[in-house]
Amino acid sequence: MPFGVNLSFAVKRWVTPELWAPLVRGRFGVDLVQFSLDLADPMWPDTLLLAHARRVREAAAAEGISVHSAFIGLAHYTYNQLLHPDPDVRDYAERWLVRAYRFAVAAGAPRVGGPLGAIAARSDGSEGEAIPERDYADLLRRLLRLAEAARAEGIVDLYIEPTPLRREWPWTIAQAERLLADLVPSPVPWRWCIDWGHATFAPLYGAQAQMAPWLERLGAGIGVLHLQQTDGMLDRHWDFTQDGIVDAAAAAALHRNAGLAGVPVFLEVFYPFERADAAVLDAMVRSCTALRPHFG
Ligand code: FE
Ligand code: MN
Repeated sequence: MPFGVNLSFAVKRWVTPELWAPLVRGRFGVDLVQFSLDLADPMWPDTLLLAHARRVREAAAAEGISVHSAFIGLAHYTYNQLLHPDPDVRDYAERWLVRAYRFAVAAGAPRVGGPLGAIAARSDGSEGEAIPERDYADLLRRLLRLAEAARAEGIVDLYIEPTPLRREWPWTIAQAERLLADLVPSPVPWRWCIDWGHATFAPLYGAQAQMAPWLERLGAGIGVLHLQQTDGMLDRHWDFTQDGIVDAAAAAALHRNAGLAGVPVFLEVFYPFERADAAVLDAMVRSCTALRPHFG
């Protein structure tokens, strides 16, 4: 099972490839990464963006690391992206993604993914079972247009990460199945990134807050898996020095039994910015050491 780390751990800390690559290989014993676009803003001017992409490619190669894909991260996700109520913001989010495709291809990782966006909250705080149909139709048009642009940039796979939020899309397996069916005409395949902390979020899914049904029903449509420790009460993104509901051996067995042994698994953890750098490093080393025997 290909096992790697999402570079979320490095955000605001080991922010250049010359800093994170030796840590990933030398300290974590990992040779696969998923780049986080919290480390490079796709809206940087071309010269800056492409120079950084080249440094990612070169530093990773120097350490014998494969960069599998680039994921959206938290910064851009914060802006509601492709479902923002203002269509001009949706347009900007499309341009952002096309530049993310350019960066990823230049960095040697021709695969990009992340959550798609969020509608606005209602003034009475009530939350619907689905986003409005006109927003869904608009999202679908944008995804098909994005896939055209992705193909032109050299992207080979696109990923959608379902999130456990009613304002986002998709947040249920049925919604994901509908979206995938509607994306059949896409010139680049859209595949799923399923995150352990999203599927197991009990306040939304109740007794159905399990990873197994996502893996069983979306099966071959899954391209990437995000691993984190969580308590099922919030989307924690804890590392595996913390206690929680995710058992590494059971998780690996579940992936394998679902026929997903070839699907890369990325540890995706976020740390408070104020936590000491040495403590983050130590926790990452211990987490990767604990996880590698199960996923490596
Ligand atoms: Fe994730
Ligand atoms: Mn998450």
